[in-house]
Formats: sequence, C-alpha cells, structure tokens
Amino acid sequence: MAEAPRALFDLTGRVAIVTGGNGGIGLGMAQGLAGAGAAIVMVARNRKKNEQAMAALSGLGATALAIEADVTDPVACRAAIDRTVERFGRLDILVNNAGTNIRKQPQDYALDEWRMILDVNLNSAFTLSQAAYAPMKHAGGGKIINIGSMMSIFGASFSAAYAASKGGIVQMTKALATAWAADNIQVNAILPGWVDTELTRQGRQQVPGLHERVLARTPAGRWGAPADFAGIAVFLASAASDFVTGAAIPVDGGFLSQG
Ligand code: NDP
Repeated sequence: MAEAPRALFDLTGRVAIVTGGNGGIGLGMAQGLAGAGAAIVMVARNRKKNEQAMAALSGLGATALAIEADVTDPVACRAAIDRTVERFGRLDILVNNAGTNIRKQPQDYALDEWRMILDVNLNSAFTLSQAAYAPMKHAGGGKIINIGSMMSIFGASFSAAYAASKGGIVQMTKALATAWAADNIQVNAILPGWVDTELTRQGRQQVPGLHERVLARTPAGRWGAPADFAGIAVFLASAASDFVTGAAIPVDGGFLSQG
C-alpha cells in the first residue's frame, strides 16, 4: 500500500537545530517546532538558560538537546552539526536565529565590535548552513530559516553593524535558495518586527523614546511576543512551504506596511 501523504504541517521524526534557542524568539520558534513533532537541538552559550529552555521543551513532551557553544566559533558550529547527526541520525531543519547588537553611532564603533556583530548575526549563519548542506542533501532535502529584521530593509543611526548583518542575511538567503533548490533544500528568511525580548529590553533602556515609537508605528498596536514566531517557523520548516524558497517574510504586526 502506498505511504499516506505527510500532513502539511507535521514535523514528527524531523530534527531541528535552533541557534539561540534558549530564549526570546528562538525559544518561541523551538516551542512551535516541538509542538509540531520535531526534536530540538538548541545551540547557545548560557548553560542556565539552556537548562531552563530544555525543561520548557521537555514539558511539551519534546526530545531536546542543548549544545553549549558560541556561534562565532566556526569549529564549534561545524561540531554542533556533526553532534546532531551523530545523536539523531539526521538534520532536517536549521534555524539561524542567534543574534546580538551594540547600539552606537557609526563613528564610534571599534572594528572588533563591528566584526563581532557580523560574526554572530551573519557569518555563523553561513558557516552553519554550509555545514548543514551535506546531511540535508543526503536526506533528500531540508529547510533553512534565517532571521533577519526590519533592519534588513531600514537603517537606523544606532545600528550600522546590525543593519549590515541583517541586510546580508536576506541576500545570503536568496543566494543559498537558488544554489540549493535543486537539492530540495528551501532557504527562507523571517523579518521580525519589534518583539519584546532581552535584546529589545536592553534597546529600550539605551534608546530614549523607542518604546513609544514602536507602539505608534506598529498597526497591531503592540510589541510582538516570541510565541508569534511559532507558526511561521512551523510553516517554513514543513512540507507546507516546499515551493517557497528565497523569500523574506515579515512577521511584524504590519510595521512594514505602515506608510
Ligand atoms: P535574545 O537576546 O532574547 O536572544 C538572543 C539569542 O541568541 C539567545 O538565545 C542567545 O543565547 C543567543 N546568542 C547570542 N549570541 C550568541 C553567540 N555568540 N553564540 C550562541 N548563541 C548566541 O534576542 P531575540 O530573541 O530578540 O533575537 C533573536 C533573533 O531575532 C536575533 O537574530 C535578532 O537579531 C532577531 N530580531 C529580534 C527582534 C526583536 O525585536 N527582538 C527584531 C528583529 C530581529 P546565549 O546568550 O545563551 O548565547
């Protein structure tokens, strides 16, 4: 008898790596993927946050593994992919979510600060995608989800390095998508609007008036929550998006559409 077609959003038996999966948007996406049946491997530095996130995922009945690693280290990135394949025998989904920012005027950046932001936000996504290619191709396909930003499109006086990294994420997404479409690997980006996480709590302290400006400009009239990213993650990780590749999808409460 022919195998029943897989339900569009079912991730049972799939294995997903989520960088920065121990908090914020990363954990919101990890919870969505776990809820759809995927095993989760989170890659992040902070052991305590890793343990708490593992407990949250286990509470959903998910299989989860935490790899304590800094994504600016390419050797650690490749090792995380290898360890995932050793442990689970496959890698189906890679979410390049780890991100950071240093907010200051462009003339004030030290080169090391610029490089660090590019390393965390952009270069790690390339290294991990490159390392994920062989196991995904071997398995007959895969899904790569890169996290951009409104700064993939707009600039801000205090975010030159961050905007450069997030603009790069979108263009890299398109290039990888075209390169690997024939291998049935879909590569897409999510562009979050303003979301209430540790990253933006810091930003609200550092940039006067940011909180009010975000509320005034976001048609939904609220900050996003990590849980708002569960659905788009499941869509882009599942068979539902098999003909979607190279896209950059805003999840922003209408921020980009506001004139
Ligand atoms: P958080 O600060 O809450 O989470 C960032 C995550 O990245 C943490 O899990 C952190 O874990 C991990 N991380 C940071 N640096 C490293 C590193 N060197 N190695 C490994 N992991 C690292 O931020 P958000 O959830 O807000 O951000 C998630 C993504 O969404 C980022 O790419 C961000 O740029 C993007 N984004 C966020 C927006 C927002 O409004 N919040 C808007 C647009 C985009 P640990 O510290 O344990 O390493």
